[in-house]
Amino acid sequence: MVELKLGGATVTRIEESYEPNFEAQKFFPAWNADVVRQHRHWLSPNHYDEASGFLKLSVHSWLIKVGGKRILIDTCVGNHKPRAYRPKWHMMETRYLERLAAAGVKPDEIDMVMCTHLHVDHVGWNTRLDNGRWVPTFKNAQYVFSREDYDFYQKLDKDPEKGPANGGSFRDSVLPVVEAGLAQMVTGAQALDESLNVEPAPGHTPGTIAIKFESKGEKALFCGDILHHALQVYHPEWNSFACLDQDNARKSRRTALEHCAGTGARLLPCHFGAPFTCHIDSKAGGFAPRFDGRF
Ligand SMILES: [Zn+2]
Repeated sequence: MVELKLGGATVTRIEESYEPNFEAQKFFPAWNADVVRQHRHWLSPNHYDEASGFLKLSVHSWLIKVGGKRILIDTCVGNHKPRAYRPKWHMMETRYLERLAAAGVKPDEIDMVMCTHLHVDHVGWNTRLDNGRWVPTFKNAQYVFSREDYDFYQKLDKDPEKGPANGGSFRDSVLPVVEAGLAQMVTGAQALDESLNVEPAPGHTPGTIAIKFESKGEKALFCGDILHHALQVYHPEWNSFACLDQDNARKSRRTALEHCAGTGARLLPCHFGAPFTCHIDSKAGGFAPRFDGRF
């Protein structure tokens, strides 16, 4: 289990899956053999499976314990959810909640859930199946959603040609939370409490938010899918197939990297391979990841 201290907070990675899961060339249109050659010494085996040509993108949540509060950032794919279009995520049965329990937290003890955006792999554990109905997994939590993402995907979901939105996850993992009165919609830059700030970071989705955290002078940036893979630290111009607005996705990625390089904030993404988090150094007009320990 990855657990780190950030000022007065403890931050723990709660794993859902970590395996070769996306074909690199399809995931990143700009993927090429030269880049693999140049970065091979750190790419394999944690970030890329060279035998299959697949990226190893972790899917996990970050659990923050600070000042008596328990906050969960991004909630993966979830169990028992029909996602036939993506077989690895279809009707999953993982031990995610057991891993949360191993970190010392029961679902009812989560105070706040924050979704960096509303894609299928960031909202799944928002709900669980209860007698054939999707109900909030974290029934005592306030769920923070981006207003821009909610409005965008609600419209798309209602469109008979384009819906259901995000592979059905809008209906089974977002709407039940809103209907239960547990959603807090945020828009623009705002402070949520003394340690958490959200800022718009549009591009990957229209309402992606960057979550800035600070405790006792130590800083972190929970970046969601502003970056999917550590190679994008070297290549901030690389977008994934899932980035909706190409120019703004690049712009938000650079802003995040500049913030981390300039302030020393630790980067906590949702999909980087082990060790799953890094610092960012400015290097020769660009950026480089600095991993902890032997990585
Ligand atoms: Zn994602």
